[in-house]
Amino acid sequence: MDRLPIYLDHNATTPLLPEVVDAMLPFLTEHFGNPSSSHVYGQRAKAAVDNARQQLAALLHCSSDEIVFTGGGTEANNLAIVGVTRALPKRRHIITTVIEHPATANVCRMLSESGYHVDRVGVDPVGQVSVSDVTAQFRSETALLTAMHSNNETGVLQPIAALGKAARERGILFHTDAAQSLGKLPVHVDDLCVDLLSVAGHKLYAPKGVGALYVRKGTPLQPLLRGAGHERGLRPGTENVASIVGLGAAAVAAAHGLDVRQRAMTTLRDRLHHALRNAVTGLQLNGHPEQRLCNTLNVRFPRVSGTALLAAVPEIAASTGSACHDGNETASAVIVAMGVPAEDAVGSVRLTLGRSTTQADVDLAARALAAAWQRLLG
Ligand SMILES: *Cc1c(COP(=O)(O)O)cnc(C)c1O
Repeated sequence: MDRLPIYLDHNATTPLLPEVVDAMLPFLTEHFGNPSSSHVYGQRAKAAVDNARQQLAALLHCSSDEIVFTGGGTEANNLAIVGVTRALPKRRHIITTVIEHPATANVCRMLSESGYHVDRVGVDPVGQVSVSDVTAQFRSETALLTAMHSNNETGVLQPIAALGKAARERGILFHTDAAQSLGKLPVHVDDLCVDLLSVAGHKLYAPKGVGALYVRKGTPLQPLLRGAGHERGLRPGTENVASIVGLGAAAVAAAHGLDVRQRAMTTLRDRLHHALRNAVTGLQLNGHPEQRLCNTLNVRFPRVSGTALLAAVPEIAASTGSACHDGNETASAVIVAMGVPAEDAVGSVRLTLGRSTTQADVDLAARALAAAWQRLLG
């Protein structure tokens, strides 16, 4: 194929924005200093990291000393969950949900294997957790509630503000994985009542391998790594200056024109959905009809496997669920958790739009998917 396929996999990763690349380049070349050095090379790098910290803090509506840069979203989740349990060793109970990304789910599993009580709260048929199901699990020994802000597979938004208020009333710390939400909808850490919030650079048009954890002032947290005192002792290791600068620039871009972008992307997403619904009899939406990320459409095609369908449509690049466990035909655990039978869930395809997606792209994608579905049915 001469042309690259249309990229409809923005929940797997996003390309760097040109302004992100421009911001980063000097820190890959002439401004190579170590931010801990006191000479001008170091001070220039330190100023850039400080600036990026302020840029990200502005996006989250927090103070810049509440940002800890990490090596990505996975590390931010690990730091939040393991860091709280280490800081509160007497509290041996954690609450999470059945739809978390592996970067949360597998950390909770590890803690459960080492003697923690872990309760995993289910979701309803549109993929949302219920606040009362969560609060029913609160105990005096609960250290932490961790619940994602929006799901990477379905895009479904969770009742984070209500969960945060309930947790705070009970003195339970609250972490949310907002990796998929930033840049797609407004995120205010105070409105959400969160103590900890994870950021993944590459879901936000910044590089892979950089992220951040928001840590509300006063939150008990222990570092995962030991080393020199970088990031207030919470994440030792010489800062990845260029990538952090890129994350700061991406945070500025995320806030700029967010309303307009959100509305335009919702329109395109729904156009794609309508075109597919008209062409594919029995097509089902996985997820809430409205309480969903503006870029995410996860649909089930009847009587085919999503993997086979995507293989028959070289015109588009998409995924059948979470990119992290590609290569096997097992049904998505997130979609099965919503009550969809596994044999139906395997027909799911996740189409995720991005900044560069056009109306022509979604029209072509809908036509190609519908035609391939017809061909597969024979
Ligand atoms: C991508 C993703 C992560 C992991 O972030 P990395 O930077 O890839 O480690 C965590 N949570 C969610 C919801 C994600 O989509």
